[in-house]
Amino acid sequence: MDLTGRTALVTGGASGIGAAVAATLAGRGAEVTVADFDGEAAERVATEIGGRAWTVDLTDVDALADLRLETDILVNNAGIQHVSPIDEFDPAAFRRILTLMVEAPFLLIRAALPHMYASGYGRIVNMSSVHGIRASANKSAYVTAKHALEGLSKVTALEGAERGVRSNCVNPGYVRTPLVEKQIADQARVHGIGEDEVLERVLLAESAVKRLVEPAEVAALVGFLVSDEASMVTGTSYVMDGGWSAS
Ligand code: NAD
Repeated sequence: MDLTGRTALVTGGASGIGAAVAATLAGRGAEVTVADFDGEAAERVATEIGGRAWTVDLTDVDALADLRLETDILVNNAGIQHVSPIDEFDPAAFRRILTLMVEAPFLLIRAALPHMYASGYGRIVNMSSVHGIRASANKSAYVTAKHALEGLSKVTALEGAERGVRSNCVNPGYVRTPLVEKQIADQARVHGIGEDEVLERVLLAESAVKRLVEPAEVAALVGFLVSDEASMVTGTSYVMDGGWSAS
């Protein structure tokens, strides 16, 4: 599990799951770059973990097109959510989600592969979701983007398998982060019910464990996937949802 001497880039590393992943990787000795468009929060996390901050808007895909990344580990984690039925869905919001959660990961993988292929070592983790394998109403862009990310991750695994590059998805259920707090508020608006009711009746209704996942629990799984313990794990997806998708 030791990552001493390895470099890692975590997108969306300034908050929630990304911040927990950045801390876990740094705790195992990796030199971590926290990439986020919230520059202040990225600096704060980077300072806490002894890493570096990269302030970047990952929807600015023109700026990513010619990028070259010298990173051994890439965690495509940045994501946003927009809750609305399709017939009312803002097309600009749909495009922005697809850009951030599909095109940006593609461009970052593309930017990192030359270094990974040259060194024969690459670990890519794509932060998918239970919504990468199951759908929910009112989340068309998010569900579409996560399903697409699953495909991108598998193709990356196939192309990199004989060159030392592994690529996997992690599929959390609902995790206690600012993204979920916003979603609870959005769902309350869409369903016309209170936020406590959303948590119990919508988010945790199908969870067997009946609690939100903690960011550190997701980070531990990422830590396993990038480690040498997972040497034969590639092209697959790991669900962590407290039994949500089992029912
Ligand atoms: P979060 O909102 O706490 O963090 C997301 C981070 O991404 C923020 O720091 C934000 O500034 C950054 N970001 C957003 N847009 C960006 C952009 N254009 N450029 C650069 N950075 C940008 O969210 P989170 O809950 O930690 O989610 C992280 C990932 O985990 C997302 O991909 C999300 O879809 C996925 N996920 C979350 C949950 C959950 O329940 N929280 C469940 C399954 C999957």
